[in-house]
Formats: sequence, structure tokens, C-alpha cells
Amino acid sequence: MATRPPTPTKFCDSQVECINDYLDGKLEAERCRELSAHLELCAGCRLLLESSRRMLQLVRAVAPAPISDSLRNRLSFALNQRMAEKRQRMGLANS
Ligand SMILES: [Zn+2]
Repeated sequence: MATRPPTPTKFCDSQVECINDYLDGKLEAERCRELSAHLELCAGCRLLLESSRRMLQLVRAVAPAPISDSLRNRLSFALNQRMAEKRQRMGLANS
């Protein structure tokens, strides 16, 4: 007699994006309400949220800074360069 696991732990594909956004803090308030209502009913998605959250905590523990200093420097350098180019082009157009 084969025993089945007591609860199916399948999550809903349609909610995966919401759960990711929720964990990123990007989920809109309305969709957030929908998601929490869904989580009340759906053990699979609850499990997915919990395991994703735990994984995220592990990742953050290893790399606490989301953007490294060198990346930040590169970004601001690129931004400054683009602004300088834009100023140059505007200067040429005016002369
Ligand atoms: Zn679900």
C-alpha cells in the first residue's frame, strides 16, 4: 500500500510573479491583497513564499550590499558621460 504525501505542495504558476514581486517589495497594494487572500487558501504558494523568503535571507546574509561600490561607480560614471554628451550636443545645436 503506497502512502501519498498528506498535502500537495504544488504552487500556482500564475502567482509566482506576484510572490517574487512581493519579496522584492515591488508588489502593488491591490495585488498584495489578492496574493495574501490567495495564500490563505493555497498551501503550495504559502510554501513557495516561505522557502523563497528563506533563500533570500541566505543570499542577503552572504552578500549584504545589493549593489557593490564598483558597480555604483560604474553606473554614475556612465550617467555622467551621457549627461556630458547631451550637454555637448545641445551646445552644438545652439551655436
Ligand atoms: Zn496557489
